Amino acid sequence: MPVDCAPSLGRKVRYIMEHQWKPETLGVRAGSEHTAFGENSEAIFLTSSFTFESAAQAAARFGGQEPGNIYSRFTNPTVTMFQNKLAALEGTEFCVATSSGMSAILACVMGLCSAGDHVIASRSIFGTTVQLFGNILKRWGLQITFVSLTDPDEWKAALRPNTKLFFVETPSNPLLEVCDIALLANIAHEAGALLVVDNCLCSPALQKPIDLGADVIIHSATKYIDGQGRCLGGAVLGKKDLLEPVYGFLRTAGPTMSAFNAWVFLKGLETLHVRMEAHSRNALELAQWLEQQSGVARVYYPGLQSHPQHALAMKQQKSGGAIVSFDVKGGKEAAWRLIDATRMISITANLGDAKSTITHPASTTHSRVSVEARAAAGISDGLIRIAVGLEHVDDLKADLAILA
Ligand SMILES: *Cc1c(COP(=O)(O)O)cnc(C)c1O
Repeated sequence: MPVDCAPSLGRKVRYIMEHQWKPETLGVRAGSEHTAFGENSEAIFLTSSFTFESAAQAAARFGGQEPGNIYSRFTNPTVTMFQNKLAALEGTEFCVATSSGMSAILACVMGLCSAGDHVIASRSIFGTTVQLFGNILKRWGLQITFVSLTDPDEWKAALRPNTKLFFVETPSNPLLEVCDIALLANIAHEAGALLVVDNCLCSPALQKPIDLGADVIIHSATKYIDGQGRCLGGAVLGKKDLLEPVYGFLRTAGPTMSAFNAWVFLKGLETLHVRMEAHSRNALELAQWLEQQSGVARVYYPGLQSHPQHALAMKQQKSGGAIVSFDVKGGKEAAWRLIDATRMISITANLGDAKSTITHPASTTHSRVSVEARAAAGISDGLIRIAVGLEHVDDLKADLAILA
């Protein structure tokens, strides 16, 4: 089934695809297509279906003999541009866009696994992903084992003959633990399994899991790909043959990306590299400042020398990323007092926005996790997570001055 269905591959697009452009250039230039009007920005194709010149052409499109668009649940030119741009950035052959990050994970499993297959996932993954694996997919016969992100022996011990996928996020949220992607890829491949990496926190601007041996990349485009907190979307990336069933699930079941959202993400990807650099610079400076404050017991940030996996993080990532977490002295009461004292930083659990956000994981994102499980995971009642935005870092420090 044809997937690369943008109307035509223009001369300049071909040039960019054929040359090894730097990532910044790919972010701005890769994937763009233009209509006969000659617009410089990309068009939003808000149409549910596409017309044909003749009955014969319709038959050829449906039969797959002629590439081209049929219906926007299958392909849409704006969505195709987004897919091609993100694939160029992640260095993968193929990308399918989805309606959200969660539907990307669902489509990945629906496409690559069957009832009775086994998945090993890190315990430190996005809370809703834990629910999807542990509550929903389990009812459909998927076997799931949760293990430590950072202990490769636990992954080896959890292997079964029917293990199909390894699923990780690195760095993890909210504690910013880092795993060795290349090492996990080796363990997975030796056992005949695939390594899936949710690369949402780093984005391809900071981390390229494919280069480290991962097989499939997941994105919540809602986060840094948008970068300004506007739209929900997601993507699954990897080799074309491997992901054909993932695309097949999406075009049949329907959680595909809207053309409007794809356009927002296309614009987001143009500025991804400069934004991620600025997020990381702000986050590192804020993390260093937090380490000096009397009200702070411990700071978690992969860019800090004090991070237990600092060396691995700096080998694997271009910089530390935007998320900084820390334990305040005085537990939940002190944590809530800090949140309530902010006048600028947004109190919300979202991340990936130009606006800095602050959250108390124990009472929000992780409130449904049992007290014991939270303690085992290291999420204390005094833990605060900040997704550092693009405001001036001095103004962020001023908003957190109660910690001094
Ligand atoms: C937000 C998030 C998701 C889910 O994405 P949605 O777009 O909200 O569905 C998955 N993984 C990670 C790491 C996330 O932060």
